[in-house]
Amino acid sequence: MTQVSQAVAPDGRDSRGNWDDVFQAELEQQRQFRVEQLADLTSDRLAVGDGSLDEVTSALLTAAAAALHDIDAALERIKSGCFGLCQHCGQVIALERLRALPMASLCMDCQYANEATGSGTLGGVPAEYLTCEAKRGAGHHR
Ligand SMILES: [Zn+2]
Repeated sequence: MTQVSQAVAPDGRDSRGNWDDVFQAELEQQRQFRVEQLADLTSDRLAVGDGSLDEVTSALLTAAAAALHDIDAALERIKSGCFGLCQHCGQVIALERLRALPMASLCMDCQYANEATGSGTLGGVPAEYLTCEAKRGAGHHR
């Protein structure tokens, strides 16, 4: 059998740190976009005067806030050195998935499982930082 080593990302193993920089830049760009979007939507609400929100604006605000939360969480994972690990099962998230969606916190398998439950959480498991805590545990002061 011939190994198709060329198909494997040359940066998949030991130069993950470089990718962290790439993803951090991407995430900060997206964060800026969301912050501005939230500011715009909020000022729209203020312009209305009575503080009421139409359904579209309300949905956009919710989506933007959720996206911002995801982005912040991903930036936190970069800081704590556990970016790219599935927050549920601890597997390394495929690089191609992260390139498409840098704020992804779940691997494909867990993402599918998550969507199947439709709850937004994996069976009530507080997955956030699960892996990070485990990974940090070794060198983290307690
Ligand atoms: Zn997973």
